[in-house]
Amino acid sequence: MRNLLCPCGSQHPHTLCCQPYVQGQIHAPTAEALMRSRYTAYCQGNIDYLIATHHPSQRKLSDRTHLAHSIQQTHWQGLTVLDTHKGQPPDTEGMVEFVAVYNTPIPGQLHERSRFVKEKGHWFYLKGESLPPLTPNRNQPCWCGSGNKFKHCHGAN
Ligand SMILES: [Zn+2]
Ligand SMILES: [Zn+2]
Repeated sequence: MRNLLCPCGSQHPHTLCCQPYVQGQIHAPTAEALMRSRYTAYCQGNIDYLIATHHPSQRKLSDRTHLAHSIQQTHWQGLTVLDTHKGQPPDTEGMVEFVAVYNTPIPGQLHERSRFVKEKGHWFYLKGESLPPLTPNRNQPCWCGSGNKFKHCHGAN
């Protein structure tokens, strides 16, 4: 397990990246770290962590069922952080824009601008705004991570 890369796409070993967060050993120091660790928790089916890092004002009784369904239905393929605003250790709010790619039930992408708040030293996911899917230029790599040009992949229609 030592050298396994973290699911969040950081290119760091999981043990030195999201694992200490999702296992509750330490708290994510930045909004981006929390966002990455929540993505990792989705990949690993760690519902408890997803609920614990969702801001209490936004939690619903149905969350556990909804998350279980989502985790079962969706096979995540990769995460790319596109932009961040604030969300650093001295801040109390932050924004992270990302695109996450899945291949089940059909290949697709989640492009979202997420808002985070920090209370009593802990970052929480507040809410997300869905953005339109990324459409690369025809000769750029496809958003799906296949390595093919967009025009030869999911832009081919
Ligand atoms: Zn990670
Ligand atoms: Zn593609």
